[in-house]
Amino acid sequence: MNMNKVHFVGAGPGDKELITLKGYKLLSNADVVIYAGSLVNPALLDYCKEGCEIHDSAYMNLQEIIEVMEKGIKEGKSVVRLQTGDFSIYGSIREQVEDLAKLNIDYDCTPGVSSFLGASSALGVEYTVPEISQSVVITRMEGRTPVPLKESIESFAAHQTSMVIFLSVQEIEKVVEKLIDGGYDKTTPIAVVYKATWPDEKVVKGTLKDIATKVKEADIRKTALIMVGEFLGKEYNNSKLYDKDFVHEYRG
Ligand code: SAH
Repeated sequence: MNMNKVHFVGAGPGDKELITLKGYKLLSNADVVIYAGSLVNPALLDYCKEGCEIHDSAYMNLQEIIEVMEKGIKEGKSVVRLQTGDFSIYGSIREQVEDLAKLNIDYDCTPGVSSFLGASSALGVEYTVPEISQSVVITRMEGRTPVPLKESIESFAAHQTSMVIFLSVQEIEKVVEKLIDGGYDKTTPIAVVYKATWPDEKVVKGTLKDIATKVKEADIRKTALIMVGEFLGKEYNNSKLYDKDFVHEYRG
């Protein structure tokens, strides 16, 4: 096993200051960086040292990505794979690490702030509002990647818990239809956050009834998250955690 490792680094949702300190250090020491150009803010590349070799994976297939990694490792270089948000959410990290294993190349991972956290910060909301919702469903509509039947939007909608839908804004009408078919009322609050934490972030808020029109008006077709559920609504219950009669050793 080559002692040198490929470093997978979560770039965060957009704002170049939302990379972790560890990720920043790895990026600024890197000799070779492969970044996801369609979604990672190129401003993050300002952190790279002079002469760093930079590849945009938007123009590469898996084999080409692996070849660049292998070459860098063989030459004893520091290789960083910079992925959008956090790689554990729709990050296709698995196929990369499996190919690296075949080549006996080791790797490590530094997490990033996923866009669903960037989006909740943009709105200043909590997904887990006491007595409203205590769970978050992260899902998507099917695209080229199919979604297992038992994970349909309708089936999750039936839980009426907080939901964040990735990779689906281009089909907002269909998403709304499925949410309603699953049991959501048309008055349920819903928000679409485009490029959360980027300088050109856009937020569109509405209900299941009017969100599709608003999203079309705002001309949002990609790089957005759909957030739905009563956690976006007006109803609120204070958490027991800071209740004066509730002494708790885990107060955060
Ligand atoms: N690993 C990434 C998600 C990659 S899938 C993460 O953790 O965020 C790509 C999808 O993520 C996009 O189609 C969009 O739905 C969402 N996305 C990524 N960055 C975003 C951002 N800054 N704002 C809103 N949605 C974003």
